[in-house]
Amino acid sequence: MFNINNIIRSNVKAMKAYSSARDEFQEINNNFIFLDANENPFDNGLNRYPDPLQRNVKAVLSQLKNFPADQILLGNGSDEVLDLIFRAFCEPNQDNVISISPSYGMYNVLANLNAIEYRKSLLNESDFQPNVKDIFNKIDDNTKMIFLCSPNNPTGEIIKKEYILEIVQNFDGLVIIDEAYIDFSDEKSWLEEIKNYPNLIVIQTLSKAFGLAGIRLGILYASAEIIAVLNKIKPPYNINQLTQEKALKILNDYDKIKFSTKTILNQKQYLERALQKFSFIKKIYPSDANFILIKVDNATGRYNELIKKGIVIRNRTNDDLCENCLRITVGTKEENEKLISQFLSF
Ligand SMILES: *Cc1c(COP(=O)(O)O)cnc(C)c1O
Repeated sequence: MFNINNIIRSNVKAMKAYSSARDEFQEINNNFIFLDANENPFDNGLNRYPDPLQRNVKAVLSQLKNFPADQILLGNGSDEVLDLIFRAFCEPNQDNVISISPSYGMYNVLANLNAIEYRKSLLNESDFQPNVKDIFNKIDDNTKMIFLCSPNNPTGEIIKKEYILEIVQNFDGLVIIDEAYIDFSDEKSWLEEIKNYPNLIVIQTLSKAFGLAGIRLGILYASAEIIAVLNKIKPPYNINQLTQEKALKILNDYDKIKFSTKTILNQKQYLERALQKFSFIKKIYPSDANFILIKVDNATGRYNELIKKGIVIRNRTNDDLCENCLRITVGTKEENEKLISQFLSF
């Protein structure tokens, strides 16, 4: 069964982490004189290196998510934490990973960048749920990770619990569940299952429901053993001071986040209803996220028509199983109404 020592790359196992000045002396205390990191001594609010372990941010996240702070890793967006797991666990030109398809494009980009074979397992066309049997057929001795995005981008739906369980329980590599959109869903996060499954990694982000795509903060939750490996190889100061400060501020105002999430979900309901009256829209897929996937008569044509009117949506027609599909992000009330009134003029 799963044993982390079987999947850490040998160079990572052998390496010693870079020890930064702020690692060696962690206590931030205004009474000390810091002459250890070659910083500029003149205080402008940002002249010191940031906390490499972002302990204040993790403490708040830990409370908010009811999850141990020492089992959290933060990255410069989800992109960085995803890249770190490739680098820690996948041997270039030898290992492979499996992902459902269609799904988030970055998994494939990062596999290519790290010289890791990327194996796609198509979702079932009828319900966009994974074909578990096909996933297991694609596993071999060099399969290190399976990517499951739930709610999935671009399809929008949560992956059923029974399918994820079957994969997590029967695969002896890592299962990564990307929950970028979980805050828009009624379904529970997989966070609390991490204590039961040492091969489970959950990834979340402040880029969507938390409204902070601009600060780049991705969050990885996993066992303490996995976090220790990733902490060893991450760039020491990967989360800058401004990001840490802004994240703290927003996380401490969670009621505001909940209110904006609710507003977005109400607007999604408005859009879903309004979209039903157009005959060029052939299908509106159910969504547990803050976007809606629709199938239309001619995706590229409709997409270009909207661009001419100054409205940009996402054309997903080239994704697997998404022929003539468009992905619409839920905007403000005014934005959504403008979209619908443009559709009325088609
Ligand atoms: C938007 C999105 C993310 C967020 O990526 P960041 O780098 O954290 O902004 C992650 N996963 C999926 C599936 C997404 O759609």
